[in-house]
Parts: sequence; C-alpha cells; structure tokens
Amino acid sequence: MVTMIFNSHTHIGDSFIKLPDKKWSVEELVAPGYGYKHRMLERAKEDEIVKGMIEAIKLMEKNTDVFVDFREGGIKGIKLLHKAMEGRKIKAIIMGRPAGMKYVKDEVDEILKMAHGIGLSSISDWDDREIEKIAEHVKKREKMFSIHVSEVKREDIDAVLSLAPDFIIHMCKGSKKDFEKIADENIPVVICPRANSFFGIAPKINEMMAAGIKIFLGTDNAMIVKPDVMEEMRYVIDKFGIDEEKAFEMISTLPYKFFKGKF
Ligand SMILES: [Zn+2]
Repeated sequence: MVTMIFNSHTHIGDSFIKLPDKKWSVEELVAPGYGYKHRMLERAKEDEIVKGMIEAIKLMEKNTDVFVDFREGGIKGIKLLHKAMEGRKIKAIIMGRPAGMKYVKDEVDEILKMAHGIGLSSISDWDDREIEKIAEHVKKREKMFSIHVSEVKREDIDAVLSLAPDFIIHMCKGSKKDFEKIADENIPVVICPRANSFFGIAPKINEMMAAGIKIFLGTDNAMIVKPDVMEEMRYVIDKFGIDEEKAFEMISTLPYKFFKGKF
C-alpha cells in the first residue's frame, strides 16, 4: 500500500508575504498583475522569496512527500523554486506559467523544459485564443495542463473542458451538471477548503463526491494558510463530515495514482 502524502495545490512563492489584517476578496489579493500578492512579488528581492519558499518546504517536509506548486513569475519563478529545492528530500511537481498574459512559443518551450506542466489562473483572466495556444502546446509536449476554475464565480465548464486539462483547481461555484461533465471526463479536482474559507467560500465536496469526481486536497496560497495538508485533511473531516478514510485517500492513493510516472 502506498503511503506517499501529496499536497496537490500550493503557491509557495508568496510564503514570505505578511498579510495586513483585513477582509480580502480573491480579486484584490491574487488577481494576476494587480492583486496585492503580485504587487508584493514584483517588489520583493529574490532572496526574500526563496527564503519564504524554503520555510514552506521545510514545513511540508514534516508530513508530505510531494507537492504540486503553481509557480508564478514565468521562467524566473521556476528558477527560484529550483533554488529553494536544492538539497531537499521532498519532491516538487512544478506547474509553471508564462510571465505575461500572452502565448509566447519560446517562453512556453522553455517553461516546459524546466517544469512538469503549466498551471494557469483562470479562463476569465485570459483571451480565449491565447489560452488555447498554450494548452495545445502543453499537450503536444505531453506535459500536464491545469487551471483554476469557478473559484468565486461560475465559469463555462465546456470552455474549460475544451482545453483538455489534466486536473483542475477549486470548482466552488460549479453546478451539478458541471460536476457530472467533469466526472465523465475523469478529471480530478483539487480543492483547498481552508484557503476558500478565508474568502468566505467553500467547495461542494459532498456534491462532487456524489457525482463521482476524484478529489485531491491542496493548501493553495502559503500566505493565507500554512501548507500543511494533514491540517487540510482534518478540516475536511471536521467541517464537511467526510469519512476519515475517504479524506485520507484525497492526500494519498488518489493523487499518487494520478501523478505516478508524471514526476
Ligand atoms: Zn491556486
């Protein structure tokens, strides 16, 4: 029996950010380009970002074997994570993304050389044609493509599925029909309920499970919640009444079977 523990969704690059105590919306905090997080990342020294990443990695090494990081900041962002990972025993599945909001062939080629795939913010942030070109390029190179979906507002699931993502993140605002389509395509959904609760939202875990979706757990932005996936599992058991064994599968066998051979 495999006992590898997975944190299937992190952004550890923002670990160094100390959040001012106020009520934040997702947009104010993490919108690509102008969100508080991205403004702080622009301003930060590389050493400061890497130091924060190392702190997050050390915390995860206490109880996690593999983490799936959605790496912002283009090629430079991936290099920072590589630096933070030097000499560590935990494994990182790196989902890079372009620095800007455009498809640049050479940049995507370079990212895919250094990362396991590309993980984007959400279709609402992107021009359809640009995102299609990125997804196609990733598929051609047989790497993974992933995207955040329906976190704060419902997005067009057909448009998302047409990009053939390998796995998707959130789905808090998904409908029953959306869940059925995702289950039909056998696409896993990574949920991050503690990070969602920071914004006053919640994933419909029971509905998604009833539809037959494979659910993995992640901790999302490290500046909001510590990247402790065991805590995430406890939260799912306590707040959503999920069976302990089922909750454990979400951080172990389910992601293991899916990511096996891909990292
Ligand atoms: Zn995320």
